[in-house]
Amino acid sequence: MKITVYDGAGVIGGNKVLLESEGTAVFLDFGMGFAGRGRFFEEFLKPRSALGLVDLLEFGLLPPLAGLYRRDLDLPEWRLWDRYRTAPGFREVKADGVLLTHAHLDHSAYISFLDPAIPVYTGLVTAVVAKATQDSAPTDLEREICYATLREPKQGLLTTTNYKKVPYKQRPFLVVDRPVPDALKPFWARGGRTRAMEPQELRAAGADPAAGPNPFAVGGLNIKWFPVDHSVPGAGAFAIETSEGWVVYTGDLRLHGRGRGQTELFRDECAKLRPLILISEGTHPGTAQPVAEEEVHERARAAVRAERGLVVADFGPRNVERLITFLEIARETGRRLAVTAKDAFLLEAMSAADPATPNPLTDDAFVVYGEAKLNRETWERVLLERFGDKVRVARDVAADPGGYILCFSFFDLGELVDIRPAGGTYVYSSSEAYSEEMAIDLARLRNWVTHFGLRMAGDPDHERGFHASGHIHGPGLEGLIRTIAPRYLIPVHTESRDFFLRTERSWPEVVWPEVGRTYEFRDGNLMA
Ligand SMILES: [Zn+2]
Repeated sequence: MKITVYDGAGVIGGNKVLLESEGTAVFLDFGMGFAGRGRFFEEFLKPRSALGLVDLLEFGLLPPLAGLYRRDLDLPEWRLWDRYRTAPGFREVKADGVLLTHAHLDHSAYISFLDPAIPVYTGLVTAVVAKATQDSAPTDLEREICYATLREPKQGLLTTTNYKKVPYKQRPFLVVDRPVPDALKPFWARGGRTRAMEPQELRAAGADPAAGPNPFAVGGLNIKWFPVDHSVPGAGAFAIETSEGWVVYTGDLRLHGRGRGQTELFRDECAKLRPLILISEGTHPGTAQPVAEEEVHERARAAVRAERGLVVADFGPRNVERLITFLEIARETGRRLAVTAKDAFLLEAMSAADPATPNPLTDDAFVVYGEAKLNRETWERVLLERFGDKVRVARDVAADPGGYILCFSFFDLGELVDIRPAGGTYVYSSSEAYSEEMAIDLARLRNWVTHFGLRMAGDPDHERGFHASGHIHGPGLEGLIRTIAPRYLIPVHTESRDFFLRTERSWPEVVWPEVGRTYEFRDGNLMA
């Protein structure tokens, strides 16, 4: 049994971990490595899509593995593999699948480049979140997770195929946690734009979907999926039974959201497997006492109660748990939650997958905010027609600013110019700035807030408790590792070497992974 970490080693995100055993090869996530990408690229200097795989292989943002990638992103005259055959870690790989833990881009985005014959195994809600996100975003080669816009050669480069002639190529997604409801089938079978879809049925991974597909098999491997709590709905962790014993992979998780019980159950069930290896995240082991979602609810409710005028709630994309926190606050304070078309689209699809998610079309506490735009893609046009008299525009909000909580983020701020609020509260319920770019955006955001005479609640530099992180805190992680008690611990998605590398006798043996190095296990031991 072999494990190779291609990204996510010593950095936060970009997880791409290859596990090979029993003649089967699976990737544990296949994300975009923001850290590695940020070393070479930014918003206006991107990998060139006309060059397909080239720029990504050049900078090691995709591992040099021949046989793994889309054939339409490579031209024979580029002699790609002659060029990258000497890259460290080059080899040929035939992958049997990707086990996708959740729909954050640092775990999912580079599935875009994989051969569309390689299936993705994931939970139903993760599949839906990934698809709804792709449907409602601009076309982007680095975001073709669920379906690909095929490219064709043109003057020695690549261009997108004609949208009237060539449909999207959909990837097989196999659902590992529950039967697929019929209500989702139309959503799965079309994209967000006019281009048609060459569809792949969304189906359960197990042979008997009625029995619940968990556990399931990929090639010669038996695999279990465990739902866990994280800052995007539908997150899970995997346990894989290999020739050497169980390998457990956490993905991203935490113990302080409303779904903390799921993480506890995962921890306790995995302990019973007596795993050989735990591959664990470690984003925030320095946090001793995390802010819980309930605390966010209390503080944000107090801020909204104190406001008679406009309230804007700003939180991370796809953080549906936070959206529901503000939905409850809207109900408690006699307001309506105004969500963007994108959020309404995501929630509608999620509620078809999981009836516990409120449906914005039928739930009276919701309205949809229609942004000022001349051209709308199909998904948005159809959605706004469907919502009809539940659509609000800037002048509706301006006429009754105390009637709403507006779910906006930084990129929606332009609407404030049309709303012209006379005071109000801007609730910043998002993570603090952890990069220079984010610090600059936060400064810009403060300028907007000041310009419109709003009060900012939850400014990360002054006021704590308006945001709960997606990641497990130090004591919780230590408890999780000690309870699961693997023989070997492989930290990924972390920069916290000191937290993991301990010499106590009760602590597992730590393998701090090197990028592209293959660790082989035989007879339950790591081979030197
Ligand atoms: Zn995540």
